[in-house]
Amino acid sequence: MRLALRSRAELDAALGLSDDERSAIDALAAAGGLPLGVTPHFLSLIDRADANDPLRVQVVPRGAELSPSSWDRRDPLGEEELEAVPFLVHRYPDRVLLLATDRCASYCRFCTRKRWVGRGPGPSAHELEAAVAYVEGQPQVRELIVSGGDALLLGDDKLAWLLARVRRVPHLDVVRLATRMLAFAPMRVTRQLIGVLRAHLEVQGAPALYLLSHFNHPRELAPAACAAVSALVDAGVPVLNQTVLLRGVNDRREVLVALFRALTRLRARPYYLHQCDLAPGTEAFRVPLAEAQALVGSLRGELSGLSVPTFVVDVPGGLGKVALSQSAQVGDDDDAVVLRGFRGELGRYPKR
Ligand code: SF4
Repeated sequence: MRLALRSRAELDAALGLSDDERSAIDALAAAGGLPLGVTPHFLSLIDRADANDPLRVQVVPRGAELSPSSWDRRDPLGEEELEAVPFLVHRYPDRVLLLATDRCASYCRFCTRKRWVGRGPGPSAHELEAAVAYVEGQPQVRELIVSGGDALLLGDDKLAWLLARVRRVPHLDVVRLATRMLAFAPMRVTRQLIGVLRAHLEVQGAPALYLLSHFNHPRELAPAACAAVSALVDAGVPVLNQTVLLRGVNDRREVLVALFRALTRLRARPYYLHQCDLAPGTEAFRVPLAEAQALVGSLRGELSGLSVPTFVVDVPGGLGKVALSQSAQVGDDDDAVVLRGFRGELGRYPKR
């Protein structure tokens, strides 16, 4: 984290920036936008010879980030209106989202929360306590998603405190830790961190713990990232992966197939494939919905159900996530529905 590249000069020296990237970085800095940040680990995975390298474009700003579209929204998921108490978003009856920190190790140019991430202010200890106290008073809430920012940017002591505090909420079944650290700085998964997570799991009656990783491209699965996933799973923490579908990064079938196969082999189950949200300046990353659905539909013939994530769209305005896939049902008659198999052939299945 200390060695992360955070200025135009550092990034220029490391990658050799284009004029477009240089002026985008300067303009974003002047506007006080999402900060710049690239960890040495992620930098080491970037192919410097390729100006459109799929890892580079995720963390190095380009001019397109400064071109707003009429669909862009400052708060695409309407989270600010759904904050029950500061830093706690209560959208679905049974789940809450804790924005535990505004910090990330590197900053993704497509970030949904770029209105706040990296700039804060993040919650104080008192506000974290008030957020968990709110959950305590809501017996219908079964899941707490700890995100931000990045949940693993909480130090071990703070994480241990948070886990101990949520264990005092009897109706919580599940705690999920959402992090991109396994891609950006997988060395965060230390023996000490594993010790904190194991200590939680060893308490009888503790909520189940899941780790939500975020890998977008197979090259992010560097040996250190694979070792981090294995250490978590071996310690008894199931890993579920989220991927954001991004133009120029992973919008090709072979890239997604390679990513989801590798994740499955690592025991990090592909969980969600997200359509890119309407955050400001992200139009260049967005894949048109019809194209995205066709792409996801084409994965079924290549991958088993274990490896195909659910393709989801967060309906703008805080209306929640919906799963979207190409319908396999192409028609029906009095007796049967007509279904299309993964090779495109049609078959009939009785209605009763
Ligand atoms: S790691 Fe997540 S929260 Fe942080 S910048 Fe990337 S997408 Fe946003």
